[in-house]
Amino acid sequence: MIATEPKASITGGEFLIKETPASQVFIPEEFSEEQMMIAATCREFLEREIWPRLDEIDKAKSPELISSLMDKAGELGLLGTSVPEQYGGFGTNFNTSMLVAEVTGAGHSFSVALSAHTGIGTLPIVYYGNDEQKSKYLPQLASGEWKAAYCLTEPDSGSDANSGKTKAVLTEDGKHYVLNGQKMWITNGGFADIYIVFAKIEEARDGGPSQTDKNLSAFIVERGYEGITMNEPEHKMGIKGSDTRQIFFNDCKVPVENLLSERGNGFKIAVNILNIGRIKLGIAAIGGSKEVINHAVNYANERMQFKTPIAQFGAIKHKLAEMALKVYASETASYRAGQNIDDLIEDLKEQGMEDSEAKLKALEQFAIECAIMKVHGSEVLDYVVDEGVQVYGGMGYSADAPMDRAYRDARINRIFEGTNEINRMLVVDMLLKRAMKGELDLMGPAMAVSKEIMSIPDFSSDEEEGLFVAEKKVVRNLKKAALMVSGAAVQKFMMNLSNEQEILMNVADMAIEIYVAESVLLRVEKLIGIKGEEAVALQKQMALVYLHEAVEKVNSAGRSAITSFAEGDELRGMLMGLKRFTKIEPMNLKDARRQIADAMIAEGKYIF
Ligand SMILES: Cc1cc2nc3c(=O)[nH]c(=O)nc-3n(C[C@H](O)[C@H](O)[C@H](O)COP(=O)(O)OP(=O)(O)OC[C@H]3O[C@@H](n4cnc5c(N)ncnc54)[C@H](O)[C@@H]3O)c2cc1C
Repeated sequence: MIATEPKASITGGEFLIKETPASQVFIPEEFSEEQMMIAATCREFLEREIWPRLDEIDKAKSPELISSLMDKAGELGLLGTSVPEQYGGFGTNFNTSMLVAEVTGAGHSFSVALSAHTGIGTLPIVYYGNDEQKSKYLPQLASGEWKAAYCLTEPDSGSDANSGKTKAVLTEDGKHYVLNGQKMWITNGGFADIYIVFAKIEEARDGGPSQTDKNLSAFIVERGYEGITMNEPEHKMGIKGSDTRQIFFNDCKVPVENLLSERGNGFKIAVNILNIGRIKLGIAAIGGSKEVINHAVNYANERMQFKTPIAQFGAIKHKLAEMALKVYASETASYRAGQNIDDLIEDLKEQGMEDSEAKLKALEQFAIECAIMKVHGSEVLDYVVDEGVQVYGGMGYSADAPMDRAYRDARINRIFEGTNEINRMLVVDMLLKRAMKGELDLMGPAMAVSKEIMSIPDFSSDEEEGLFVAEKKVVRNLKKAALMVSGAAVQKFMMNLSNEQEILMNVADMAIEIYVAESVLLRVEKLIGIKGEEAVALQKQMALVYLHEAVEKVNSAGRSAITSFAEGDELRGMLMGLKRFTKIEPMNLKDARRQIADAMIAEGKYIF
């Protein structure tokens, strides 16, 4: 393992206003042997148990197969990575659980069942359960003896998750809550033994109408309780082997001791658990993407047209390189954020905070990065599967070749764990809220940028020497562009900015590209320091091409935002500022992409 320098404390969202030295970011090359062994175990499991059965899993008429595969994963210990050791799990750190999510992310329907169980199903008890609840449920969930599902969504309550109508009423003897309501789209619904159910507590008022809490509460509901019925599995576009149901609670009596955390705390639990799920979904999408690239490179090497393997055509090389560099960049940023979370957990524990509280606090701190990585990872996967189909040509459209399933299965990732629209809005909303609370100084740097637009351009760093000096200036300028646009939008709309969703989407896109482009540059800088420039020449090309593309995207999103609200001199001034802040020295991107593609073509797979 490579020694990492002691870290300065980093806070969530700070990347927009602060530079991070390369020595302080975690890079995947720093995973320990033990972590790589865990990853290898996951991969062997997919190779042995899942990939040979993908058709069988998708065509299964009952959930028995997927449930039995979960049992096998449990026997190998794959279900207990995030469960503390004292409750029968492995209590691994956050980045190790991300690594497990990445590798198992290539498991199609199985990976959805696995992540619903280990994530949204189990983690509410890990983080919010009391000792009795943890002792009663976690050992069985870690071993896979019991499976879990998470019941938040309802027919009329999706993105607006706190608007659910499911009710919980305390019985007169005070021993049970009686649940009534309908949940929808519940992954693992058909075979789960434990349901985390979100409902609002309703209370009778003396003589008057009963009152319902404003916020959800969360309950641990066992399958064996009376009053639970369900529909047949949903017919879905993809992830067909994942068991998704509507579940009905009809006078379902839940013991009061199964209330999770406190009354009214359910929405907070739901949000925090989804937040963890988000970054893991992002990295799982990257695991899936790598497998698609492996197939695509292989096929491109084998498929002959015009007496030439199609891998030799520039148009195909372009696709392969783009797929790879987007995946490489997304992976980099996800593990950077994962390590920030791990570091903060350790800091908080050293300050005396209890384990699960420290984890929740750290995850909340980096909620902006978690939302960023959910959006980025899921959109990279969609890009990769779409180009994967194209590389396969007609065979991409055949249900007997691997791209068909990959294409259909990928699409859900932009919808669940908060749609990508909701996550984009969350990115900006959280940034601005932190700025208003004084936790993140966005206003100071934003004002400095507006002054800078009026002044002559700064060429100072052009004389600096060192690695990526020019590229780092580009990233600094992209941050200025984001601050300029968001600062002006806040000034213009003040509290009404939330009604300008198109602008929020643009600002989120700018933030996302900046975070990822900076991360990949820092990874390569660190790698060059360790291995030398020659050894990582291709990685350097990937970082540079990514940066060029990020500049274009930031420019386009910035332009779209500015033209949405500015006029006259202000419009012209801001567009000039944007032009200044999105300058980059041109390079031969075609040659860079060819080098990246050629290296993969030679090896017949994704090699980074
Ligand atoms: C296969 C599958 C598995 C799932 N598994 C689970 C599970 O295990 N447990 C669970 O609880 N849920 C689960 N879900 C539900 C999932 O989380 C929701 O589908 C998702 O949150 C979106 O909610 P919705 O479908 O009601 O869409 P809607 O909220 O109706 O959204 C429709 C569209 O409107 C947009 N939109 C909504 N609100 C806004 C807004 N304020 N501003 C701008 N745009 C907006 C959305 O982005 C989207 O594009 C699953 C869903 C599927 C399809």
